[in-house]
Amino acid sequence: MTSYFDEHDCEPTNPEEQYRQNALLELARSLMQGLDIDSGWLDVSDWDQRLPPPAAKAVVQSLPLHRITPQQADKGLKCPVCLLEFEEEETVREMPCKHLFHSGCILPWLGKTNSCPLCRFELPTDNSDYEEFKKDKERRRQREHRLEDLHGAMYT
Ligand SMILES: [Zn+2]
Ligand SMILES: [Zn+2]
Repeated sequence: MTSYFDEHDCEPTNPEEQYRQNALLELARSLMQGLDIDSGWLDVSDWDQRLPPPAAKAVVQSLPLHRITPQQADKGLKCPVCLLEFEEEETVREMPCKHLFHSGCILPWLGKTNSCPLCRFELPTDNSDYEEFKKDKERRRQREHRLEDLHGAMYT
């Protein structure tokens, strides 16, 4: 078996990324401590500037459960939100990005926003506005890509 760190070799190196990642984890922790994280985000109308909507309920319910193996417990694998080490045989939730969390840590978070607090992998949402925004963003990105290709074809 490969180690957790081999499989999860995705630590951001850029300080801006690192900052954003820590900010998300901080938010996830404050949520777990029962603090309300909504204030401050709601008055911004641009999705780029605020937390995406909650993950779709069906998706959250179908997140696979993972039983912590003795190897993972030996390595001191931790829940990224509460930083407690997982116990052997403990049942935790596995996100599609393969990050593991206690149910009690990740479920309240996914009830607020759809992304993994560690790597920002996004789950689908029930919010049609946001899904539309995501598609739109993808279309814009592809268009820019085509323009670049066109530019490249014209000037080479
Ligand atoms: Zn936890
Ligand atoms: Zn993740």
